[in-house]
Amino acid sequence: MNANQSNLNSNLQSELQTQFLQDYKLNGTKLSVLIYPHPTLSKKAIDVDTTKITPELITLAKNMLYTMYLAPGIGLAAPQVGKSLRLVTLDVSYTRDKIILESESDKLEGVTVDGVEEDEDEEGENYSDSSSDSEKDKESAANIIHKGTSAKTSKYKLDNFHPMVLINPVITNRSGIVKCNEGCLSLPGIHEDIERANEIDVEFTNLRGERENIHATDLLSICIQHECDHLEGIVLLDHLSLLKRNFHKRKLMKRKK
Ligand SMILES: [Zn+2]
Repeated sequence: MNANQSNLNSNLQSELQTQFLQDYKLNGTKLSVLIYPHPTLSKKAIDVDTTKITPELITLAKNMLYTMYLAPGIGLAAPQVGKSLRLVTLDVSYTRDKIILESESDKLEGVTVDGVEEDEDEEGENYSDSSSDSEKDKESAANIIHKGTSAKTSKYKLDNFHPMVLINPVITNRSGIVKCNEGCLSLPGIHEDIERANEIDVEFTNLRGERENIHATDLLSICIQHECDHLEGIVLLDHLSLLKRNFHKRKLMKRKK
């Protein structure tokens, strides 16, 4: 095979491998999400070698998206699933319609997300200015049973996916200030107001190995900044005062027992 053929083949291969992003169907393996203060969450992640996007990397991205949607969250960084790599998955616009089931006897068969409390309004990497709680699109692609430690059990209908995978993301420009109430899959039950840039420019490599640039605003901008923090070993607690940080740390330690 000559060099051109080999290029053609590898292009075709990456085309096929990344097709799942175009017409996304919820599937993959659910990964366990590390809970703070796991040491991997405080480590600076290493660059992905993008000269060759391996099937393993694509599988990791697929499984991270699946794990993120199931939580349900709007962003997930590889260190949160124990891989210290500069890779993040995002989707700030899919529909998550939550249906609270009346009692324990109403529990339905489905995917159970363990260890996530339902005493908060929302869980995961989601932010209060999200508009995804709309009542529209009740027809769903997936149903998720979200079982908490409390008696309340809820079911999610997920649909309208717009998955994004950013490899080696670099924020090249920031402007404006926005304050938003953020949560994190690695910090269950914690929601705090964090100040971020309202608009950013981000450079990243996509799953085909091509470098791309995007301008992100509002929720997408906030989410990218939150996930890029994870790649630096920074969690949202690190944005808080020492007093608040220690308060939340104690809360998480108690939860572990
Ligand atoms: Zn997070």
